[in-house]
Amino acid sequence: MAKRTILDVEVRGKRVLVRVDFNVPIEHVDGDARITDDTRIRATLPTVQNLVKRGARVVLMSHLGRPKGKPDPKLSLRPVADRLGYLLQKRVRFSDDCIGAGAENSAKSLQDGEVLLLENLRFHPEEEKNDPAFSRQLAQLGEIYVNDAFGTAHRAHSSTEGVAHFLAERAIGLLMEKELHFLGEELAHPARPFVVILGGAKVSDKIRVIDRLLAKADVLIIGGAMAYTFYLAQGKAVGKSLVEPDRVEMARLALNKAASRGIELLLPVDSYIVEHIDFERRQTSPGRYTQPAEEIPDGWRAVDIGPATLAAMKRPLAAARTIFWNGPMGVFEIRGCDKGTFAVAEMVAENRDAVSIVGGGDSVKALHRSGLADRITFISTGGGASLEFLEGKPLPGISVIPDKAEEEAKAAIAHATGEGPTESFLPT
Ligand code: AMP
Repeated sequence: MAKRTILDVEVRGKRVLVRVDFNVPIEHVDGDARITDDTRIRATLPTVQNLVKRGARVVLMSHLGRPKGKPDPKLSLRPVADRLGYLLQKRVRFSDDCIGAGAENSAKSLQDGEVLLLENLRFHPEEEKNDPAFSRQLAQLGEIYVNDAFGTAHRAHSSTEGVAHFLAERAIGLLMEKELHFLGEELAHPARPFVVILGGAKVSDKIRVIDRLLAKADVLIIGGAMAYTFYLAQGKAVGKSLVEPDRVEMARLALNKAASRGIELLLPVDSYIVEHIDFERRQTSPGRYTQPAEEIPDGWRAVDIGPATLAAMKRPLAAARTIFWNGPMGVFEIRGCDKGTFAVAEMVAENRDAVSIVGGGDSVKALHRSGLADRITFISTGGGASLEFLEGKPLPGISVIPDKAEEEAKAAIAHATGEGPTESFLPT
């Protein structure tokens, strides 16, 4: 069911409290704070610009990093207010605290079309505890609640969930709408062939997604360390590769499910292997590629997929009409172990006929580093959130927003009984 969006709400002259995800990387050099990647700020521009254009009084709130519940000047959102102002080409006001008299005054003195950013929500421990008193204080700052932070929608925090109970008008932003469209509708009814590529460290993190996607996909490609737990399930040697012995049974079940549904499941047929890896220094001992079908020898660990595997992926990826990719194919952080991930980024980007959807930090980084991001149909801003969403779990930050139909029904009842909307204080 489609969620109510900002376009369904009359916002002119109203204080609209928007949860955004401005958790951007910031470097501090000689006392200067520099935002090294403003992708997340840019991603929220459509929502903010739309609200500004329609005469809303926009109050933005976000977390930044992990300040552990107390103020930390290095994790202040002030530099973000400056960058946002630059991107919007208009003044963005800043409040030194996200609650209290100062924040309330700043919010209440906003004029139509003005924008205020609140200081880091996580300077207060109550935010992550979803404390009702804190949520109520946040709710003082707005009349309408908007959630546009998909990346934190799987957490029930004050700003993502609790606050919504104190504001009768609620909607999602345009970025959140896009996330739900691509991860929801596009993947629920994919154009076929639908090819899924999953990588990363752990089967345990992704087994539910694998299970769900096995009901949808035509081809499932598994790379990264995860693949070697599947090797164990096939009785193959894995040497010192990173595996989860307690997930072998699950991997076996997934292999059986793929076979019984006639889904092509591709595992690496060759790998880049090394004897030693130093994660801190980001280096490995000299490595080599295994021969196709060679198992991982004793004393060696697989750290990337090999050329024969990439060759096997080429055909399904070129033929795909929908591609979903999450997770790196190897130890992407270390040079020499990143070739498979970059090659996959290229193959996904090369297919211009497919709807391509990419989520998860490392796959997204690979696309950005190789300058291919603009060739992807949609890049999700949520790692953990996108996985939980694909598992079919209700995300608290989304559940708290009414469906379009639900809103229409409520409005019809209110119209029939002559009642206006009332503030809800009930937990869901
Ligand atoms: P995830 O957060 O589950 O997407 O996993 C990402 C992590 O998986 C990255 O830090 C990679 O270094 C790691 N990874 C991918 N492939 C391997 C591998 N073959 N061996 C060890 N770690 C890997």
